[in-house]
Amino acid sequence: MYLVLLGAPGTGKGTQAKILAERQGWLHLSTGDMLREAVAAQTELGRQAKSYMDAGSLVPDELVIDMLLERIARPDAEAGFILDGFPRTLAQAKALEEALERAGKAIDVALHFVAPDEELVRRLSNRWICRRCGYIANRRLGECPACGGELYQREDDREETVRTRLQTQKPPAEMVAYYRDHGKLVEIDAMQPVERVTDDLLNVIGRVKSA
Ligand code: AMP
Repeated sequence: MYLVLLGAPGTGKGTQAKILAERQGWLHLSTGDMLREAVAAQTELGRQAKSYMDAGSLVPDELVIDMLLERIARPDAEAGFILDGFPRTLAQAKALEEALERAGKAIDVALHFVAPDEELVRRLSNRWICRRCGYIANRRLGECPACGGELYQREDDREETVRTRLQTQKPPAEMVAYYRDHGKLVEIDAMQPVERVTDDLLNVIGRVKSA
């Protein structure tokens, strides 16, 4: 299956994408992770993306689209993938659909994670991530509860940047409408506990699979 997860930063897309990828054996692709890797490796893409990311703005479409389309064309994406953080604009959504169409494929479902802004600010400014295994903790802990690794806070999870990201990175209405018009959109209540959100997602996936 080919899934896209839509939602503002902090709605839990990354957490759920990881869970689903493990359970279903699908590839989890986070454009945020891919861009952070490019920045760390100081590639040309990383150099171009860095200032946008530091400011909490979107990286220009052409850079992100090229990166993502190149990635999903590799053989390990053949069996299925979960896109976490892509698309974030209507142009990205269309570029994705067109590339899949050329390969005789299509997105099965777009899962839209919905939660109020204040909850997202609270979540993001309390988010700590494990350097070793990627575990996401919702408060500052001495070490990662999953693997004992070191936890760090993302640069762009400081409260000021978080507010900019929420303003600039909510799924735009026209992109949500695009998936709704194509009969692909399903809204997910992202305020629920993690396990309940996973249950909802698995129910939707089951329904889509058997449709
Ligand atoms: P994330 O980890 O998804 O919050 O992404 C971190 C940062 O990477 C974002 O604040 C953007 O600057 C950039 N980014 C990630 N995905 C995209 C995308 N699909 N389009 C544009 N910028 C993106």
